[in-house]
Amino acid sequence: MEFFDTHTHYNDEKFKQEAEKMLNELKQNGIGGIVIPGFNIESSERAIELANKNASVYCSVGIHPSDIENSTEKIDEQICKIRDLIKNEKVVAIGEIGLDYHWTQDNKELQKYAFKKQIELANEQKLPIIIHTRDCVQDMIDILSKEISPMEPSILHCCPFNRELVKEGLKLNFYISFAGPVTYKNAKNAEEIVKMVPEEKILIETDSPYLPPEPFRGQRNDSTKVKYIAQKVAEIKNIPLEEFAKLTFENAKKVFKI
Ligand SMILES: [Zn+2]
Ligand SMILES: [Zn+2]
Repeated sequence: MEFFDTHTHYNDEKFKQEAEKMLNELKQNGIGGIVIPGFNIESSERAIELANKNASVYCSVGIHPSDIENSTEKIDEQICKIRDLIKNEKVVAIGEIGLDYHWTQDNKELQKYAFKKQIELANEQKLPIIIHTRDCVQDMIDILSKEISPMEPSILHCCPFNRELVKEGLKLNFYISFAGPVTYKNAKNAEEIVKMVPEEKILIETDSPYLPPEPFRGQRNDSTKVKYIAQKVAEIKNIPLEEFAKLTFENAKKVFKI
């Protein structure tokens, strides 16, 4: 049985020294494929570097809302560099991009600007996007439904347990990617949200090194723990784990066109 972890940051500082070694051991640990998303220029370059060393490792490039510069001109420069990085053949998406009002609300307009510009870039390049969304439900829905939506089927990463947002995502033909929080006992609506998502739209991810699933909370997360997330979602959907692994693997291949 092999799983596909659609979102894992081996490009994060917390992995620095060990990333290469851990990637080499993925196969023997039951992980048949992963995508490493960039969150700024440096981490996007590192994601490409790691993907180029390992056949089952793919990556995406993009500027996370918490990593955007403080003027539209400087954001344009950042996106210009991202455009250059897309040329690498292991790049399968633009991301992670989106809105995050949890850490700061002072640059909402710039966050929206960077998000929309990167959707534009993805549409021009015919790539899916990987969306990060936190504490910004209405603005996210407004942008996607009224201003600009991705042309390729895209991904709502680390599924927010918000009915309206998931409903909107499904309307736009998105894939919904479940992460560690689906295993947390205090995760409100998690079960209801999982049930809303049709089988052919489910993805799984660790978002490691963050958000470890139960029973690993408080430890550094990594891709091998994706099976605990799979177990939980498969149980709610009433699908045997082996079948669920295959299903989500195929879904990942489809959305990333690999
Ligand atoms: Zn994220
Ligand atoms: Zn992430």
